[in-house]
Amino acid sequence: MISVFGSANMDLVAYVPEAPRRGETVTGHRFRTVPGGKGANQAIAAARAGADVAFLGAVGDDGFGAELRATLSEAGVDVRCLRQVPGPTGIAHIVVDDTGGNSIIVVPGANGTVTGPSGDDLAAIAASQVLLLQLELPMAAVMAAAQAARVSGVPVILTPAPAQPLPDELLDTVALIVPNEHEAAAITGVTGAEAAMDALLERVEEAVITLGSAGALYGSRPGERLLVPAPKVNAVDTTAAGDTFVGALAVARSEGYGVEEALRFASAAAGLSVQREGASTSMPTRLEIEATLSD
Ligand code: ATP
Repeated sequence: MISVFGSANMDLVAYVPEAPRRGETVTGHRFRTVPGGKGANQAIAAARAGADVAFLGAVGDDGFGAELRATLSEAGVDVRCLRQVPGPTGIAHIVVDDTGGNSIIVVPGANGTVTGPSGDDLAAIAASQVLLLQLELPMAAVMAAAQAARVSGVPVILTPAPAQPLPDELLDTVALIVPNEHEAAAITGVTGAEAAMDALLERVEEAVITLGSAGALYGSRPGERLLVPAPKVNAVDTTAAGDTFVGALAVARSEGYGVEEALRFASAAAGLSVQREGASTSMPTRLEIEATLSD
């Protein structure tokens, strides 16, 4: 089983020719709401990629919260540890331009009320092969979950987003960190994937830096380096490409795939997701991932 302790947001997505600058108003092509949040996205990506998944987090007592719970359930995610708290559900305001690029504002809502895993959450973490963490919950809550995983001997895969410097107490509990290039630079203070990888491996055992259409760079402390190219596809919306990558990578690792095989599985999943619009709506099934890999 894979546990995901993280955020659930309703994504409010506007499709525009070009993102507006300060003071500018642009007319969009269209608008839609899509269940998202890095935690919920990774949970759905992992469930669609074939794992048993438990989602641990919080939604508000509004319509967005009810919709998120239903979406996670329909994707096969166990939501018994998803709490409902008074107030609004978290939202992400996303602007997607005609090149498929995106910019995002997150308002945490219920996610900001999460303090740490308790009771059933701890049992779910202890029963997992992998715990997935991101940084859209309060840092104290993320660190408490990472500690709980460490106590139970459960490896943690961390997506360090939104980008920020990270305390050593957190990185000491992480088995694998998966930043994109921007996040890797924010954590290490150095630019360039190779240099950032060197700096990351001074603090964690294993890292994957995702490089968008250029693929993903893997590194481990024993000195292994591997660049896995991304499939050549027509990208229409890269929202949640990183979450799809991490969800699928976690599934492959929990099933005992080797490093390269797991990275190819994750790249295939993410490559499929960028060809479709939205976050959870764009994530491929196990059958779709395997069909791509056997092409
Ligand atoms: P996002 O924030 O949009 O979810 P991210 O910035 O976290 O994404 P990226 O590095 O952009 O992460 O992408 C993650 C992975 O998704 C890449 O390593 C790659 O495997 C796949 N990917 C992203 N963009 C493309 C693309 N244009 N074509 C093929 N694969 C892609």
